[in-house]
Amino acid sequence: MAYTSYKKIDDVGRVVLPKDVREELGLRINDMIKIDVEKDTIVIRKAEESCVFCGKNGSLKHYMGKTVCANCIKQLNNT
Ligand SMILES: [Zn+2]
Repeated sequence: MAYTSYKKIDDVGRVVLPKDVREELGLRINDMIKIDVEKDTIVIRKAEESCVFCGKNGSLKHYMGKTVCANCIKQLNNT
């Protein structure tokens, strides 16, 4: 999908992602996005969830606002 859109930044810095783009990428309310800045370019990607400790993305659980995989939970339980 090639897409160009012009958006205004509001008074608190928000930008609305166009509905077409959200639908194309399967982005829903409360989904996480990842923002990278490369020189003068802002890149917004659909965030892939991963474990806060090991970075893997299998068997994820959420605890106190953090994402942790089952393997790391097991290791934490053994410490
Ligand atoms: Zn992990």
